[in-house]
Amino acid sequence: MRAENFISKYEKCLICPRKCGVNRLTGKTGFCGMRALATVNLSMLHQGEEPPISGTKGSGAVFFEGCSLKCVFCQNFDVSRGPTGCGKIYNAQELSELYLDLQSQGAHNINLVTGSHFIPTIAESIMIARDSGLKIPVVFNCGGYESVDSLKMLEGLVDIYMPDMKFFSSSLSSKLCSAPDYFEVCCKALEEMYRQTGPVELNEEGIMKRGMIVRHLMLPGQLFDTKKVLDYLCKTFGNNIYISLMNQYTPFEYKYESMKLPDFLTRKLPQGHYQAAADYLLINDQTNAFIQEDDASGDEMLPDFKS
Ligand code: SF4
Repeated sequence: MRAENFISKYEKCLICPRKCGVNRLTGKTGFCGMRALATVNLSMLHQGEEPPISGTKGSGAVFFEGCSLKCVFCQNFDVSRGPTGCGKIYNAQELSELYLDLQSQGAHNINLVTGSHFIPTIAESIMIARDSGLKIPVVFNCGGYESVDSLKMLEGLVDIYMPDMKFFSSSLSSKLCSAPDYFEVCCKALEEMYRQTGPVELNEEGIMKRGMIVRHLMLPGQLFDTKKVLDYLCKTFGNNIYISLMNQYTPFEYKYESMKLPDFLTRKLPQGHYQAAADYLLINDQTNAFIQEDDASGDEMLPDFKS
């Protein structure tokens, strides 16, 4: 086990690019809304991920509460805003036991969803789990707004990175998640992730062992922005990574009446725009891509979070 003082990382929290500097050990919270206590809303065998992650038996998903991005259109809005009061607090040892339990249920991998604000605890938990018999790959599934220093804590522990690349435009990311530097931060984070994992590797059953899948959820009226994101991904990584182009954007205005979404987010994604982006991947020779065949929008795609 690496000798690192993980807990001290919460003392003056610089874990994500928000750099709040608060002492989360004393119960203070920053932008992510969470104290230094890893809180899991739900763990389950999840069939809804990309085929090399979900496979036939499911991905061992662990959904953390809180988020360092808090996009206004978040599909996991119930758990991303902060503590729901229904989550369970886990220390590193207990998290490692949760991973081993998912492994014993047949999970193809451990899929850590939105855990960026708990990276020190997660790093320690993976070390304990590996020492205790965790054999399956670990997937770090995140919003892409990550600190390179924090990602280095995961080096040698995470096998597969599954980040989003949500936006190119600074004005869009500023408006939708208060992060005008999203694209430049995300580029550096993805380059660090790729440095750690290298190109995609699959096992004999087509299940991913190593590498990176970058997800991009298309937003209504933002085809130009999508193309800029795809330009970067294709030129930088090409077919060494998978790109997952997602069309499941769902306007949440009716579910959360108090929220005021920008007008363009109150509509669904035009299917023609999705097809244009899929064609754009082919024009760029990106064959390692996941394209959704039908309209996948709607609540039925989401796990049943506790709130
Ligand atoms: S992890 Fe949370 S408290 Fe720490 S810098 Fe990020 S948003 Fe702020």
